[in-house]
Amino acid sequence: MTRLAPKLWLKPGREKSLRRRHPWVFSGAIERVEGTPGAGDTVDVVSASGDFLARAAYSPASQIRARVWTFVPTEVVDAAFLRRRLQRAVESRRRLGMLDEQSACRLVFSESDGVPGLIVDRYSNHLVCQFLAAGADAWRDTIASVLMEICAPRGIYERSEGGSRHKEGLSSRRGLLAGEEPPGQIEVLAGGARLVVDVVNGQKTGAYLDQQRNRKRVAAYAHDAEVLDAFAYTGGFAIACLRSTARSATLIDSSAEALALAERETAANGVADRCAFVVANVFDELRTLRQGGRQFDLVVLDPPKFVHSADQVNAGSRGYKDINMLAMQLVRSGGALATFSCSGHVDALLFQKIIAGAALDVGRTAQILERLSQPADHPVATEFPEAEYLKGLILRVH
Ligand code: SAH
Repeated sequence: MTRLAPKLWLKPGREKSLRRRHPWVFSGAIERVEGTPGAGDTVDVVSASGDFLARAAYSPASQIRARVWTFVPTEVVDAAFLRRRLQRAVESRRRLGMLDEQSACRLVFSESDGVPGLIVDRYSNHLVCQFLAAGADAWRDTIASVLMEICAPRGIYERSEGGSRHKEGLSSRRGLLAGEEPPGQIEVLAGGARLVVDVVNGQKTGAYLDQQRNRKRVAAYAHDAEVLDAFAYTGGFAIACLRSTARSATLIDSSAEALALAERETAANGVADRCAFVVANVFDELRTLRQGGRQFDLVVLDPPKFVHSADQVNAGSRGYKDINMLAMQLVRSGGALATFSCSGHVDALLFQKIIAGAALDVGRTAQILERLSQPADHPVATEFPEAEYLKGLILRVH
C-alpha cells in the first residue's frame, strides 16, 4: 500500500505566488496540514480547491513553512531528482569556465539553482556545504554522496551555521561530511591573485567568492593609489589593488582572526610589506583617521549585512549612510570610493539614494563610474528576486 503524501492546503487566493513559480510557502498562507509531516519531509502543496501546485520541503519551525522542490506533478523528490538538479548547477559553472583545478566558485546557489537552502562552494578540489533549510538538511547525506559522485572532490566539509539555520529550528553543525579532511590552508587562484582559504575556521565557507570579479574591477581604479580596505576580511580587495598598480594599503577589520588570515594571504601574494593591518571597528577607525587628517586615493567599503529583515531597513540605511559619509571624507579629491551592500532588503535604487544623501551631507560631489553586482556563479532565478543581494558602486569623489 502506498502512503499518501502529506498535504498543505492553502487558503483561498494564496496560490498566486506559486503559480508564478515563487518557491516559498509562508505559514500565513496555509489553511491546514493533512497528515503529520516532520521537518524536511516532502509534502504536496494544494490550492483551496485541491489543485496540485507544488511538491515542497516542510519546515514546521520556520515562517517559510515550505520550500518548493518542483512544480511538476509527476516529478518525484528522491536521489535521482537531487542528482539532476546538482548536475545542472555544476554544468552551468563548467560552461562559465569556472571549474579549473586551481580555482574557486560557488557551485550551488540555493533557490536559484533549484535546491532551496543548499550552498556549495568549491575551493580547488575541496567542497564546502551549508545546509540552511530543513529540506536540504534532511537530504544531507544523499546530497553529499551525489556531490562526491559528480564532482569527485578530495573531500566535502560542512559549515552549516548562522542565523538562517536558527530560523529553521536547526542548530549549527561543522565537520567533515565525506572524503578527506581539508588542509588548514587551501590555496586557489582567483583572477591572478592567490586566495589562502581556511574552510574550517574562516568566515562562512572560508572566503567571499561573490566579490572575486568585483575585486578586479575595483583594482582598475588603484593606479599609484594609497588604498583603504575597510571590512577587509583576508584583504581580497587590497591584494587585487596591490597586484595591480597600487602603492600601499591599509586593511581594517574588527576580527583579529580575519587579519591573521590577511597577513598570510598578502604574504602569499608578495604584497605584505606594503600593507598595514588595523584590528578595529570600522566606524571608530574611520573617525580616527579623519581626525588625523588622513586621506586615501581609493577607499573600499565592503561591510557585512546590516539589514536582515524588512523592519531593519531604516536602521540599516542609517548605518550605510554613516560609513559612506566617513569614507567620502577620507577620499582625496579626484579619488575613488568603491562601496557595497550585501543586504537584499536594500535594493540598488535605495542604495544609490543613501550614497547620494551621504555625499550631500558631507559636501562632496560623487559620480557613479560603475555599478557592480553579484557574479554569474551567484545567479538570480527570475521567479526568485530575493536571490539578488549584492550591489556596489564605484564613485569618483571630488
Ligand atoms: N571585503 C572582504 C569581505 C568582507 S566581509 C573580501 O573581499 O573578502 C565583512 C567583514 O567585516 C568581515 O571580515 C567582518 O569580520 C568585518 N566586520 C564586521 N563588522 C565590522 C566592524 N564594525 N568593524 C570592522 N570590521 C567589521
